[in-house]
Amino acid sequence: MKITVVGAAGGEVTGSAYIVQTKNARVLVECGMFQGGKKSEALNRPPVGPKQRLDAVLVTHGHLDHTGRLPLLAKMGYQGPVYATAATLDMTALVLRDSARIQEGDATRKSRKRERAGEPPVEPLYSLTDAETIIQQFRAAPYRKPVLIAPCIQACFTEAGHMLGSSSILLMVEEDGRQKRVVFSGDLGPQCSPILPDFAPFENVDLVFLESTYGRRNHRPFRETVDEFIEIVKDAVACRGKILIPTFAIGRAQMLTILMSWAFRNKRIKPFPLFLDSPMAIEATKLYAQHFVETPELFDERISRYVRQRPIREDLKSLKATRSAAESMEINDISGPCMIMAGAGMCNAGRILHHLKANLWKPQTHVVIVGYQAHGSLGRMLVEGEKVVRIFGEKIVVRAQVHTLGGFSAHAGQKDLLAWYDAVAPSKPRLILVHGEDDARKELAKLIQQKHKTNPLLPGRGDTIEL
Ligand code: ZN
Repeated sequence: MKITVVGAAGGEVTGSAYIVQTKNARVLVECGMFQGGKKSEALNRPPVGPKQRLDAVLVTHGHLDHTGRLPLLAKMGYQGPVYATAATLDMTALVLRDSARIQEGDATRKSRKRERAGEPPVEPLYSLTDAETIIQQFRAAPYRKPVLIAPCIQACFTEAGHMLGSSSILLMVEEDGRQKRVVFSGDLGPQCSPILPDFAPFENVDLVFLESTYGRRNHRPFRETVDEFIEIVKDAVACRGKILIPTFAIGRAQMLTILMSWAFRNKRIKPFPLFLDSPMAIEATKLYAQHFVETPELFDERISRYVRQRPIREDLKSLKATRSAAESMEINDISGPCMIMAGAGMCNAGRILHHLKANLWKPQTHVVIVGYQAHGSLGRMLVEGEKVVRIFGEKIVVRAQVHTLGGFSAHAGQKDLLAWYDAVAPSKPRLILVHGEDDARKELAKLIQQKHKTNPLLPGRGDTIEL
């Protein structure tokens, strides 16, 4: 068996994809988009997978950097199944439709410009039709029950605790009369998150692909982060500033909404206007609510108890979900304090850019960064304390206070990653560290090496591992 690491390698955290080639089948695990600046995004253009036959595609969870190139497979003529958990498929459909609309919109805008310059139009990376085609090929897989996905390959999806429906995938491959077991961790969540169950452990594994996004850092405990967040919000409200939160539409937006409901319910903060300014986050919240009723086992018991006490919407009468662009623009006219949760999570696109442009130069503005910011993204520049940034070609001075709250991350911190590896370590698997910047991967590799006397491999893009 050979596994080629297509993306999220060589220090990158986006573009996750692996081609698994056995004697009997060829399978693609993940089909993510490269994000975070022009250089990374250029990598999306070449064909994602092998031109040869592909038997099945599997994805761990719905985020764009794990699913965003699936419609390209449809465009290339792939007609086989795409397996994931039911909740992941719901989220992925939402993400892909949104992404296709963005691709089409960008291409139309560029083509118009090019037409005026007498140049030929550009084609979108993929269309909404391509997205709808691949969505038709989705096949739901249960948690913890192996599914035959290709000749001599079974896949078992287990909880990853990262977002609703997220999973790690165990592949059981029959080859040369023996079974080989390979785990793809996918993105792992932090342990003890109040909303999702913790990730499930693995044992008896031959080869492991482990994410290392926060291999170098531990998050502040959730409780302490909540206190810090509340203080920031109180400060902003006291100085009548706006609180801008670049929000990943799926996961962080719902966590923050629940948190504000809790803060209002427990009188930690007096209710003030909140805006969920993201059509996709609004849709994702609906899916969360739907799964909460239909599949409560996907959630942590603490959140279930909290919602049973009193419906969240009763605490959130000051929350407005703004779908249309016109409603979003009206937020600009609000003079008092308010909280705006808008995408994109890394400030590389979306409505948050308009809010940042209108407010970054004001000292009473607070920007709260709650998720991972890739190299090259505007969000990363803000985290690193850039004093001047460019938004829509305009120079904007940063006078706002920028806060980074690692404790709200949807990703496992260093301690969590080590705990995950501790569980699988007794079977002495080969370990491949992916999905991390190089300093994070190296630090995690060093710690695992010291503790378990194993030499993790840090592959580059395009490297192949044989088993
Ligand atoms: Zn993710």
